[in-house]
Amino acid sequence: MYDVIVVGARCAGATTAMLLARRGYRVLCVDRATFPKDTVSTHLLRQGGLARLRDWGLLDELKATGCTPVHTITMSYDDAMFSGFSDPIDGIEEIYAPRRIVLDNLLQDAARAAGVELRQGIAVTGLVRDGETVTGITGRDEQDRTITEHARLVIGADGRASTVAQLTGAEQYNVVPAHTFTCYSYWTGLQMQSQLRIRDRQAVGGWPTHDGKTLLWVVQMVDRFSEFRTDIEGNFHRAFKETAPDLAELVGTGERDERFYVARQPENFYRVSHGEGWALVGDAGYHKDPFTGLGISDAFSYADLLAERAHEGLSGARPLTEALAEYQAQRDKSSKGMYRFTCESSKLVFPDNYLEVMRALPASPQHTQQWFRMMAGGLNGRDFFTEDNLRALFEAAA
Ligand SMILES: Cc1cc2nc3c(=O)[nH]c(=O)nc-3n(C[C@H](O)[C@H](O)[C@H](O)COP(=O)(O)OP(=O)(O)OC[C@H]3O[C@@H](n4cnc5c(N)ncnc54)[C@H](O)[C@@H]3O)c2cc1C
Repeated sequence: MYDVIVVGARCAGATTAMLLARRGYRVLCVDRATFPKDTVSTHLLRQGGLARLRDWGLLDELKATGCTPVHTITMSYDDAMFSGFSDPIDGIEEIYAPRRIVLDNLLQDAARAAGVELRQGIAVTGLVRDGETVTGITGRDEQDRTITEHARLVIGADGRASTVAQLTGAEQYNVVPAHTFTCYSYWTGLQMQSQLRIRDRQAVGGWPTHDGKTLLWVVQMVDRFSEFRTDIEGNFHRAFKETAPDLAELVGTGERDERFYVARQPENFYRVSHGEGWALVGDAGYHKDPFTGLGISDAFSYADLLAERAHEGLSGARPLTEALAEYQAQRDKSSKGMYRFTCESSKLVFPDNYLEVMRALPASPQHTQQWFRMMAGGLNGRDFFTEDNLRALFEAAA
């Protein structure tokens, strides 16, 4: 009998398991994958996520893997172009885009070091129940043997198509249709800081990662998905030429080093993330378009929150169901603003005053810094777009 079983062993699962094991609980973490294994993600880590790694004592380990830091972001929208970076958020001055094969491995090692029993190649297919209460999991291992394990709490950290969510009937809410698909790959021989360029309802960009490689991506609207797939390479480069000719030229000086990954985004949603004996964390409970690059950082933040609330329940300080309900309420409250911003900005259609604002930004380093803080999730859009703040910006530009 375990205290906790976590299903899924990547950003949300390995971290939740680690945090609960560090609090002294007996934790089993299972994943149907066998690691090291890559996953489809452009893997930008925001300051909020990096701050959690620092708090957990893992940021220096990440830096030691040789991932290139990003200190500048160049952004363009139509004819407006500016570069800058957020002021430190939670004490973090730079961002990174670590390969998932490296990041997930680092998190899994940290979970094991904390005492988590991590079993790979286990696909969870069912839940054990005592009446209405979830008391364990059933699944199949790689030899197709049935496994059954019991715990006081089962946590689904098994991604947006979560099996645990399906088995508990966790309903979705605040659902917003997805608008885009993403195509990306890795290049060698490019010297490039982070880029985000938007024009004509498409976006291109990229950032440095491990091994001297640069990840380059294209985002387009779903209605172009089928046509894009008929000539992935040609359409990829065409998107760079149309959106950011200067970048297209730079891309031509490097060499593509890996295959193209193409992913159509499923809808944005929250899911009911707690019930008798179970909880959801990461994409399983709260999924949004990757356009704002917040999935991993949010997975860390809400793993932290869930571990804290679950500890209150498991230690007997308060009823577990009450603590888990508070976890969901706190997550929803703190993520609401960026969820709305993500759903809106991933349409790649912005209100008229955005262009005006972006054209003015190069005149004001202070507002540029605020802009990038907002993009990173450290400033609410409402606080940037106040009448006074915009007046000061336009005065600087005039
Ligand atoms: C194209 C694309 C680009 C993205 N770019 C970014 C970015 O730049 N920055 C960012 O922060 N986020 C990005 N994201 C989002 C980010 O990848 C996710 O938010 C993040 O991976 C969520 O982590 P997770 O641990 O919740 O789930 P996942 O990473 O999906 O992990 C879930 C794990 O659960 C396991 N699992 C699933 N079902 C079962 C089962 N039945 N039994 C056992 N194990 C199971 C899986 O094998 C998997 O290992 C991107 C996503 C996509 C698709």
